[in-house]
Amino acid sequence: MAEVLVLVDHVDGKVRKTTAELLTIARRLGEPSAVFVGAGFDAAKESLARFGAEKVYRVESPEVLEHLVVPQAELLAQLVASTSPAAVLVPASPEGKEIAARLAVKTESGLITDAVDVQAGDGGVATTQSVFAGSYTVTATVTKGTPIVAVKPNSATPEEAAGAAADEVVDFTPSDAAKGARITESKPKQATGRPELTEAAIVVSGGRGTGGDFSKVEDFADSLGAAVGASRAAVDAGWYPHTSQVGQTGKQVSPQLYVACGISGAIQHRAGMQTSKTIVAVNKDNEAPIFELVDFGVVGDLFNVLPQATEAIKAAKD
Ligand code: FAD
Repeated sequence: MAEVLVLVDHVDGKVRKTTAELLTIARRLGEPSAVFVGAGFDAAKESLARFGAEKVYRVESPEVLEHLVVPQAELLAQLVASTSPAAVLVPASPEGKEIAARLAVKTESGLITDAVDVQAGDGGVATTQSVFAGSYTVTATVTKGTPIVAVKPNSATPEEAAGAAADEVVDFTPSDAAKGARITESKPKQATGRPELTEAAIVVSGGRGTGGDFSKVEDFADSLGAAVGASRAAVDAGWYPHTSQVGQTGKQVSPQLYVACGISGAIQHRAGMQTSKTIVAVNKDNEAPIFELVDFGVVGDLFNVLPQATEAIKAAKD
């Protein structure tokens, strides 16, 4: 069976859930090999093995850490040339998509971004993706080169694999071509204690209907262990940080549950959330367009509905 390369998404060896999802998908297509760039491999090894990585290509060179995405694209290109994998899977994060695009150019391969499902098909790797701002769902296969697929978070349920050990570790050094730009300073994001928006299983978002008071949205999100998102109207008003914007010009999320609070459901907002598995809206206008795509809708004032829902969830947990 051919190898399937999975680019590991981690912070100092703490592996993100998206990597467990990608390794689970990789096992449908061939033999998963993890590609680990950065420090902290010892901390990551157990989790890579648990989700099925047999082999690990590792780049721990401190020099690489000083550079941006380019070394990762370069090193993946070197690995594609030497291993002829069945596919390369990367997370569909902004960074992952830049790496995937660079890799596709370098290896003259087809690229599919924002896949929400990946399976082994008759013609190779068969993907399902959401296109044109989520207006269509298409199935696609790569017909040239190595299939490179950027997969959205929450596209698979991580499944543990018995027997994999990740104990074949191949150290790798990317070529000098990878050093065109470097990081001169980095500041950690202020921690909120909430999950990262693009990989959260539950997202609760607030819009103009909050009137700028996100406290009820945040309380409700915290009762569910959810990330908090915002519509562009709320972000443009300066009520919530730009990094929390969901939509066409914000982040694309695809959680198990998305709750839109005081958001009308404009096409540009839908583009960032309509592949969510279950969609709930709270809006006081029963004709708001968001109700066209929800699984469950609550017509009501969010300042009445959300505190009651928060209390009910807390009571159910006690
Ligand atoms: P509104 O459309 O004003 O809706 C507010 C809703 O809150 C209404 O439905 C109202 O009934 C309800 N409401 C009011 N008070 C309450 C209450 N107390 N309780 C319950 N409900 C209440 N938008 C995005 O979100 N993301 C994007 O990435 C994005 N990109 C864009 C890109 C372009 C090029 C353009 C042109 C627009 C983009 N937009 C984007 C903006 C988009 O078109 C909408 O203007 C925006 O999504 C509206 O935000 P909203 O739903 O919060 O506000």
